[in-house]
Amino acid sequence: MFDYIQKELDNLIDRGFDRTLRLAVTGLSRSGKTAFITSLVNQLLHINTLDNPRLSLFDAAREKRILAVKPIEQRTMHIPRFEYEKNLKCLTDTPARWPDSTRGVSETRLAIRYQQRGLWRHLKETGTLYLDIFDYPGEWLLDLPLLELDFQQWSEQQRELMQGQRLELAQKWQENVAKIDLFAKADAAVLAQLAKDYTEYLLACKAQGLHFIQPGRFVLAGELEGAPAVQFFPLVHLNKAQWQALKKADNDSYFAVLTDRYDYYCQHIVKGFYRDYFSTFDRQVILADCLTPLNHSQRAFLDMQEGLQALFKSFHYGKRTLFNRLFSPKIDKLMFLATKADHITREQHHNLISLLRQLVQEGGRYVAYEGIKTTYDAIAAIRATQQVKVKQNGKFYAAIQGIRQKDQQKITLYPGEVPSRLPNAQFWQTQGFEFDQFEPQPLEPSSAIPHLRMDAVLQFLLADKLD
Ligand code: GDP
Repeated sequence: MFDYIQKELDNLIDRGFDRTLRLAVTGLSRSGKTAFITSLVNQLLHINTLDNPRLSLFDAAREKRILAVKPIEQRTMHIPRFEYEKNLKCLTDTPARWPDSTRGVSETRLAIRYQQRGLWRHLKETGTLYLDIFDYPGEWLLDLPLLELDFQQWSEQQRELMQGQRLELAQKWQENVAKIDLFAKADAAVLAQLAKDYTEYLLACKAQGLHFIQPGRFVLAGELEGAPAVQFFPLVHLNKAQWQALKKADNDSYFAVLTDRYDYYCQHIVKGFYRDYFSTFDRQVILADCLTPLNHSQRAFLDMQEGLQALFKSFHYGKRTLFNRLFSPKIDKLMFLATKADHITREQHHNLISLLRQLVQEGGRYVAYEGIKTTYDAIAAIRATQQVKVKQNGKFYAAIQGIRQKDQQKITLYPGEVPSRLPNAQFWQTQGFEFDQFEPQPLEPSSAIPHLRMDAVLQFLLADKLD
């Protein structure tokens, strides 16, 4: 009992202060970041409206302890604002459409006024939680390994990667690079063109569903578009002797300029992101669309796995890692979410979570995120389909219904089974996947966005801060 009272007293002291929580959301392109943040903000803003009874897993909402939620001015002036209103308008327009995807970092801030819980409840104490939400492309996290590689090592690693489909896509850029004399005085315009060719190659990889691309900023350059810092490329055609010889090239040679730009990129762009943003986050959500790559090919799926594994490295910060030494991050909760779960029937959600978990845990090997409370779930931030039952030969089957994007037809379908484990080669030959894209459902401006399990998300991320 004494311990309990002591804890309550400690809590009470803590409650005397308003709290701030910096929540970061990331994931590879089109994993659903924009949809997720739009829905998260929307669920919170509608928390007390009558038509939002769908937050039953979120204690503070169920117990009606959230008194008010309002958007307020963000604190960091140099970060673009997350355009919630614009995104919401896309959903409330007729016909409803998906908002534009994440292109760089953005921020939004909410003030959540709540009533506290526990022994002192009768005192009717209220507090305010200031919630800062950051959105940034997961591609930026793919650059972390660069900090441990010099230009030659990185180039050699890229050469290893360039096989099969990638080799074909890289052909034009490679032919052009091979034509330049790396000892000659660098021409900025030539470098700009070659970097453009290289960026096009990376974008072509992405279009083919290949997600593991470096440098990550090249495909989502944001405010760096056109800057020399994002105008370099790996030299994948050189052998060891050529690398050795090039070390003696003049300071203004192509070789020296490329090396300088690579170093600048690592020291300022990559490190800058981790130092200025990443190390300030308290909690992190990582979104993964595990369904779309199943539509492509085994290669695309493996590539996404590789991309995600590289991205997760930013969170494996045990005591000894370079990352921890450089940035001392302070994230205490990590949430992995498989998105777009409204593409599949409810009984498949379990498999989807299991697949995500396998992807994160390197095919089953346990990975500890030291000192970080970690969880996995499957969600639909913006539910575009209805779960229905279809009668066939006297039996009822679970199915989904929605407006299919490609032909705007209302369809009812059983999208198939999600593998609960990482699929092997044989699996791809015997079972195809066909997950269609759907249009969002029409939305009244006064209504909350329909979702799946966003209340479980709010519970994990916010509940302890609202107690
Ligand atoms: P971002 O690049 O990570 O910001 O991804 P977006 O949030 O823009 O999502 C990319 C696309 O995925 C959207 O245009 C939608 O087509 C689809 N999408 C995202 N979230 C959902 C969801 O909850 N349900 C469904 N059915 N589709 C979604």
